[in-house]
Amino acid sequence: MIETTGSGMPRRVVVLGGGITGLVASYRLIQGAGERGLQLDVIVADASDRFGGSIETAREAGFVMERGPDCFLSTKPEGIALCRDLGLENRLTGTKSAHRRSFILRNGRLLPVPKGFYLLAPSSFLPFVTTSIFSPLGKLRMAMEIFIPPREEEGDETLASFVRRRFGRETLVRMAQPMIAGIYSADPEELSLEATMPQFHEMERTHGSIIRALRKRMQKESKRQATSASGPRYGLFLTLDSGMETMVDALLEKIPAESLRPNTRAVSLRCEGNRWRVGFDGGEDIEADAVCLALPANSARNLLGELSSNLADRLDEIPYGSVATLNLAFDRSQVTHPLDGMGFVVPAIEGRNLLACSFSSSKFVGRAPEKKVLLRAFVGGSHAEKAFALSDDEMTGQVMEELRPLLGIRGEPEVAVLSRFRGAMAQYRLGHLDRVRAIDEEIENLPGIAVAGSAYRGVGIPDCAASAGEAASRLLGYIAACVS
Ligand SMILES: Cc1cc2nc3c(=O)[nH]c(=O)nc-3n(C[C@H](O)[C@H](O)[C@H](O)COP(=O)(O)OP(=O)(O)OC[C@H]3O[C@@H](n4cnc5c(N)ncnc54)[C@H](O)[C@@H]3O)c2cc1C
Repeated sequence: MIETTGSGMPRRVVVLGGGITGLVASYRLIQGAGERGLQLDVIVADASDRFGGSIETAREAGFVMERGPDCFLSTKPEGIALCRDLGLENRLTGTKSAHRRSFILRNGRLLPVPKGFYLLAPSSFLPFVTTSIFSPLGKLRMAMEIFIPPREEEGDETLASFVRRRFGRETLVRMAQPMIAGIYSADPEELSLEATMPQFHEMERTHGSIIRALRKRMQKESKRQATSASGPRYGLFLTLDSGMETMVDALLEKIPAESLRPNTRAVSLRCEGNRWRVGFDGGEDIEADAVCLALPANSARNLLGELSSNLADRLDEIPYGSVATLNLAFDRSQVTHPLDGMGFVVPAIEGRNLLACSFSSSKFVGRAPEKKVLLRAFVGGSHAEKAFALSDDEMTGQVMEELRPLLGIRGEPEVAVLSRFRGAMAQYRLGHLDRVRAIDEEIENLPGIAVAGSAYRGVGIPDCAASAGEAASRLLGYIAACVS
């Protein structure tokens, strides 16, 4: 069957991929068309039987369990703006103020991350001196950071090289590596500083030292708090009271039901005159004026590769990592650890399967019924392939074996929900931003095509929402120009 739109009919945009990026792009297209008085038919097709991509909340026995992301950063405005537009602002909730700290595993013991430590670097003196996460020599090397001159060479650098150069090897293996793996499920030896943590590059450039920059920022922040009566409106991490999938549900309400095509995998994309034809795996074809590819890089590559070999090569250079999450619910009496933090991360040198574990019910309100607790363990990174070869029972057994002594767990979980995300985490390798700029240039040559999503300029939900918004406005501009 071929679906077409004739002249005088509404223009059509097909959005491929119904993860957060595809849904936000569809919503912004519908919203923007309304504002511009454009008649637009939006179709959003996803290969799977549900929408939301990596975002999925399981609710069972009073537990609210995030299979994928459990929160987003409040410092990037697009996440909050999206929730506000969707009428979800009063459903936003920050981390519990009593437990805003994390732990790190060292020689089988969970030690608190020193107060004032920002991802890679300390900003406070005392907590850093007294921690036993680092050896005295490691601390000395870290403190020397203020005397290390900024890098002279231009261009990108790996996160590992940056941390080693400024703070020494111990900070890398004991702190930066597990923090980075907890966010990107990736090896800092391969990740691009510019693409993942540009703020550190900027701090080095403007202040000559990360510690100095962080201390200045802290002083400014405490001055701001002293002069402001209310303090910051939100904490660093935000979630929705009934779980992250609430965001997906709210987006689905904004998109007409007839626009939603689940179980619809795009397999081809052809240019026909000034229109596009998208082919799907069931043999169906849809003609469109414009197409938004809100897909992982490899799926986008399969569709765009025929149109440009350069584009195919650049998209091939964006690899993906795998991660599994395991939500584990217990009676409070089964866990002896006070769970007085947001969770812990595990350095690779500790040689565990676990990457990290969130104390979900300590982190956010409403995740577990009274007298119950919810934990969420992560397995992935370099262990992913080995772990993914295990059955669900085997993987759960291995995680439980590692968690038991660390958290003093007795008995079996009341509920266990395992979720596997194979090839779901884009890895921004060295030179990623140059690659993305080259992709943008190639896309400029394809009128009516836009790409968006976690493959390009940020893996976080606010980044995906921003990229979806940009793709939607590019395509609306194109459609408006076609109509006029
Ligand atoms: C376990 C985990 C935890 C995370 N935690 C956080 C967190 O706490 N905070 C945060 O901000 N971010 C987090 N992230 C990252 C964030 O969730 C993702 O970057 C974001 O959800 C990606 O959205 P997306 O729409 O770009 O891609 P996806 O969610 O991957 O969606 C892509 C969609 O495309 C579909 N698709 C693929 N190929 C085709 C095709 N050929 N045709 C049609 N459809 C196709 C897929 O079925 C999928 O639904 C986490 C990610 C994971 C996996």
